[in-house]
Amino acid sequence: TVRVRLAPSPTGNLHIGTARTAVFNWLFARHHDGKFILRIEDTDLERSRPEYTESILQGLQWLGLNWDEGPVFQTQRLEIYKSAVQTLLDKGLAYRCYTTADELEALRESQKARGQAPRYDNRHRNLTPEQEAAYKAQGRSFVIRFKIDDDREIVWNDLVREKMVWRGSDLGGDMVIARAAADGIGQPLYNFAVVVDDMDMQITHVIRGEDHIANTAKQILLYEAFGAKIPEFAHTPLILNQEGRKLSKRDGVTSISDFKKLGFTAEALVNYMTLLGWSPPDSTQEIFTLQEAAKQFSFERVNKAGAKFDWAKLDWLNSQYIHAMPVDKLTDLIIPYWQEAGYQFTGGRERPWLEQLVTLIQPSLTRLVDAVEMSKLFFTDSVEFSEEAAAQLKQEGVALTVNGVIASLENHQELNEASAQEIIKQVVKEQNVKKGLVMRSLRAALTGDMHGPDLIQSWLLLHQIGLDKHRLMKAT
Ligand code: GLU
Repeated sequence: TVRVRLAPSPTGNLHIGTARTAVFNWLFARHHDGKFILRIEDTDLERSRPEYTESILQGLQWLGLNWDEGPVFQTQRLEIYKSAVQTLLDKGLAYRCYTTADELEALRESQKARGQAPRYDNRHRNLTPEQEAAYKAQGRSFVIRFKIDDDREIVWNDLVREKMVWRGSDLGGDMVIARAAADGIGQPLYNFAVVVDDMDMQITHVIRGEDHIANTAKQILLYEAFGAKIPEFAHTPLILNQEGRKLSKRDGVTSISDFKKLGFTAEALVNYMTLLGWSPPDSTQEIFTLQEAAKQFSFERVNKAGAKFDWAKLDWLNSQYIHAMPVDKLTDLIIPYWQEAGYQFTGGRERPWLEQLVTLIQPSLTRLVDAVEMSKLFFTDSVEFSEEAAAQLKQEGVALTVNGVIASLENHQELNEASAQEIIKQVVKEQNVKKGLVMRSLRAALTGDMHGPDLIQSWLLLHQIGLDKHRLMKAT
């Protein structure tokens, strides 16, 4: 069975790139009825934080990317890595290297002077026991290096990038796989821990960003050293910013929690990420659930080229999801944004009223957070007038018109769609003015603006919380 994993390092909040990798892993696992495993790569003790792990778990859950096994934490597996290091030492495929930081620096300098790329020159590959003892006696520490022969050719058939060929000489010399500890072997390094884990968890397909391609070449050599089966690799295209460069923290919004704050729904965001580098067989189809995408997912339809992040498309998808959403669900989603803005649900602003308000603004929403600005006038007693609205109210005859509405309003037992229309008609007739003038004046007085959602519905909502008469009176 297919077993894939997401292996984020908890050194930041869940990032869009990691989330997109998660999407592809999830889709592939579900397509093949396989397992999606979560592994937290927290071996970098300096930069890893529990709150980032929390952000990653919550973000994946929010997006609906449920995992089948884990989370497994690398920090709890130190003993496993140590014994794996020992295995390679015993096989003679790894060795202790006592080169000091100063010596390495001098080596780099001389390589630089000769215009060469920096690489370790494997100088401690064949130390005699006497030499080792001498270095130890000097009090030198060591790292464990894994032997990489320069003339090795490393070939794999990448599921996205097809045939990949690397040379041992491209990999910077014998690679460090672990550091020393006071009592022997210590912290493993990234490439080593990943291979030990992927072997142990019987990962069949490693799906990750193309920035890991050079790591894959090294990792394949490690699988061979352990005599393990080498998984398939799929390196997914990078997400690019508007300038066509790799999307990075400098581009501002990059963490999933930022997207949530900006008012994107989980469904739209995950739908969008699915399209970042993949397209369904019917490439005109743009809106689908994760389940639908999983049915159709394959690496044949993943692009090699980077995927440019397209805000307009994300906004469009988001609006599609919002417009199609049942009002009670949409209300649930909007309430936190209103709360965040400090809006109070008092004075008749109860659930049914809130749902009516949501129904009113739903067609105009692109992002959930837009609801804050659009419904501001329903949560404040006094309305702010735009320049246009103030000018409208100063026009001749407008005060009279508004007063007419107030008078007529008092003669009606209750305000509903029909009676509101009735009142407008009555004022038009009595004062012999155009309906447009009455409507514009009402809108200016009630909402403080000349543009907005349906006027009669807005009026009814204001009426239910007793704000309409107050505003009309203020406007005259
Ligand atoms: N921990 C690595 C990262 O965050 C991922 C490693 C992998 O997928 O192999 O980039």
